[in-house]
Amino acid sequence: MPPSAALAVLAATAMAPVLPVAPAATPEVQVSVLERQNSRFAPVEITANVDRLPPNERRALALMLQAAQVTDALFLRQIWAGNEPMLLQLLSEPDSALRRARLHAFLLGKGPWSPLDQGPKGPVAFIPGVPPKPPAANFYPAGATKAEVEKWIASLPAAQRAKAAGFFTTIRRGPEGKLVAVPYSIEYQGELARMAELLREAASLTSQPTLKAFLEKRAAAFLSNDYHDSDVAWMKLDASIEPTVGPYEVYEDEWFNYKAAFEAFIALRDDAETAKLTRFGSELQDIENHLPIEPRYRNPKLGAMAPIRVVNSIFSAGDGNRGVQTAGYDLPNDERITAELGTKRVMLKNIQEAKFQKVLVPISGVALSKLDQDRVDFDAFFTHTLMHELMHGLGPHNIAVGRQRTTARQSLQEAYGTIEEAKADIAGLFAMQYLVDKGVLDKKYEDTMYVTFLASAFRAIRFGLGEAHGRGTAIQLNWILDHGGFRADPDGTFSVDPAKIKEAVKGLTTEFLTLEAQGDRKKAQEMIGTLAVIRPQVKTVLDRLSTVPVDIEPRYVTAEKLMDEAAASTAP
Ligand code: ZN
Repeated sequence: MPPSAALAVLAATAMAPVLPVAPAATPEVQVSVLERQNSRFAPVEITANVDRLPPNERRALALMLQAAQVTDALFLRQIWAGNEPMLLQLLSEPDSALRRARLHAFLLGKGPWSPLDQGPKGPVAFIPGVPPKPPAANFYPAGATKAEVEKWIASLPAAQRAKAAGFFTTIRRGPEGKLVAVPYSIEYQGELARMAELLREAASLTSQPTLKAFLEKRAAAFLSNDYHDSDVAWMKLDASIEPTVGPYEVYEDEWFNYKAAFEAFIALRDDAETAKLTRFGSELQDIENHLPIEPRYRNPKLGAMAPIRVVNSIFSAGDGNRGVQTAGYDLPNDERITAELGTKRVMLKNIQEAKFQKVLVPISGVALSKLDQDRVDFDAFFTHTLMHELMHGLGPHNIAVGRQRTTARQSLQEAYGTIEEAKADIAGLFAMQYLVDKGVLDKKYEDTMYVTFLASAFRAIRFGLGEAHGRGTAIQLNWILDHGGFRADPDGTFSVDPAKIKEAVKGLTTEFLTLEAQGDRKKAQEMIGTLAVIRPQVKTVLDRLSTVPVDIEPRYVTAEKLMDEAAASTAP
């Protein structure tokens, strides 16, 4: 969406004073710093094929896009009360290189702080005079302290406490300075009424029953503040259009993780990948039965597969479109729904492909041998990503340590996240090879999946060893290097040894699965201590990656086209 479209909503809703901006470095220096920061996000056009949608569904889709746009304005306001005035100021200032660079950075990060640059007080502000990013966001009253809010919530009777600590209220000060919980349906009344209207109109156009149900129920939720039925309807969506729109993730509430930020993902179901998933689903028990572990550790009867949807994004907004782009999500977060129905994973295939082209391919150009670079392949990458998700459901989960029944998660404690992510990765490669050998997957994957995995290891490690994925990847890379499946070549690049890689992947799969089966926390900690490290040769490659983009900056061209179409058809 062009910024101007998203901002139209804003301009209509925000009328607050502008903030003083003090000069720091010279404008030229500020511009060059900002441009360098912005260039870490590679611009990319995001498209999806809407040709097969009948005219009524296309019109419904355009209305969903309009509703999604509103979440941009809501999200800005939720993050910081100063966001909307600051954006209006940036839009109204006389044009200059500095204004453009700041506006660009603001829109990338949805605020005046750089999402990739952490200082001692959180993300670094790039506009002079801006305060540190408030950990309470704009969910709690300005001037309140965490202790005050905590004490007040604890003092409430159960029903009120649930509301005050709930996803869908803000905390404000009432007339006498007392704290009160304000439902989102009141706090954001104007925007939510508009979104409800758009979703209802979309519901009246679509002829797909589960989509109609979700749109109607979500519209009702915006007005009633009760999201339960619409979350249930979202879990049951089975339509060519897959909309996710509403208040969801709680990370912006750094005080308590209570309050949900608005976001939207409007996407189309990918039928080919959906069929592939179904095919894999029917192989899972067979894969489990052939996992390279002692037979007693295998699960003779796997539970139902958690639902996964593969979609192509048309538009994302709000919390779902800033900084490093979301390429997949598990929702809802509301425990009432997850206890009833579990969660659904949605994977944005075209966003993953854009990241693959703009980030992974350039990384492989630096990190891999010439021969291996040419075999790095998106289909292998995406198929492995699907397999990774499926593998979380396989292997030991409920285990026995001595005589005690427990879970791998409880036994491994803080080491679990790292081990489980690494297990899903490596068992995913093992499973792909198993399906190739069985004739379920094309033999071409043998040629592409290992080199693609090696390239993507450098991408994950680049984000650092501070989180489970990065640590898990470092363990795998180093273990396979030690077992000859990968080679560090004299010219500073890395390559796959086709003669040794299969055995190495199988061996490491055995290691992780056995570790989880035995709940051996000490061994897990040892493994993390010795292998979740960046060795000198890997460091050299990481240093050479400094000019490769970190992520993408999407431009949603299909959404722009649909919106233009809709505007033209309603114009007088
Ligand atoms: Zn995972």
